[in-house]
Amino acid sequence: MNNKDEFKSGFVGIIGRPNVGKSTLINSFVDEKIAITSDKPQTTRNKIRCIVNRKNAQIIFIDTPGFHKPKDPLGKYLNQAVESTFREVDAIVFVADASEIIGRGDAYIANQLKKINTPVILVLNKIDKIGKNKLKSQIEAAKERGRFTHIIPLSAKTKENIIELLDSVCTYMPAGPKYYSDDMVTDQPEALIISEFIREKVLNLTSEEVPYSVAVEINEIEARPNKDLTDVFATIYVERDSQKGILIGKGGTMLKKVGQQARFDIEKLLGNQINLQLYVKVKKNWRRDERTFQQFGYNQ
Ligand code: GDP
Ligand code: MG
Repeated sequence: MNNKDEFKSGFVGIIGRPNVGKSTLINSFVDEKIAITSDKPQTTRNKIRCIVNRKNAQIIFIDTPGFHKPKDPLGKYLNQAVESTFREVDAIVFVADASEIIGRGDAYIANQLKKINTPVILVLNKIDKIGKNKLKSQIEAAKERGRFTHIIPLSAKTKENIIELLDSVCTYMPAGPKYYSDDMVTDQPEALIISEFIREKVLNLTSEEVPYSVAVEINEIEARPNKDLTDVFATIYVERDSQKGILIGKGGTMLKKVGQQARFDIEKLLGNQINLQLYVKVKKNWRRDERTFQQFGYNQ
């Protein structure tokens, strides 16, 4: 085997301000929903890993929660998770929103990235929302903000230029083994993805403090014998009684909506009919209590 045919593999961290489309990008790589998306900032809490197989290469992408000023112990934990990702990876994909001003928040991240030697590919996402001229000026603006080995405009939504990004990422992968079998798109346990689906619906259906106060725990996933039906029992935790009221809604309408939408995603994931039972419980101020948020899985 000559050098050119050598198998390559490596890890790539995805970073960027909230809402620029990091999770959408992850999902576009694998044609399957594994990372939840939301128009509310700071909602990715776990490092979601997605596995992309190409001819002669395997790339493992890590979707990090965005950097932000920590407001509570959970926020501090999330920042540490981002920093450790920077140190582990072979390349970084820095995502910015091409339809917005490339501004201070992006510059903050670009400056953090200057401190490390890892190659940084800048993605200008959401080009479906802008014209050619605007894109040109955005590329110029981005060049002023930092040192990037590549700048790739794309749309995570329409998938325009996704292949170009993967090609570019591949050039930075070192020779290495195939870590995961071809049929795996993520190394996240099913229960975690399911809990994220449920959390996503709460994020998208509620407002103000509720989205940030929610944690979801999967209590049981069990297939019924000889039936195309799986029972999923999950508990949604909030921090206050008032939030519990909002989440359940008048006559249980809100919780019902959350359940219906989540069930749709879970059925697609498991390829099975789902009976989803949701419970709501109050755990006062869980975001401040390290032991509790570790129990909810924020402990990598
Ligand atoms: P994250 O916070 O960076 O993970 O951002 P998300 O992936 O959750 O996306 C934030 C919002 O931007 C969602 O409403 C997405 O549907 C939307 N979005 C993401 N990528 C694109 C894109 O390429 N084009 C457009 N028009 N919208 C996008
Ligand atoms: Mg996200």
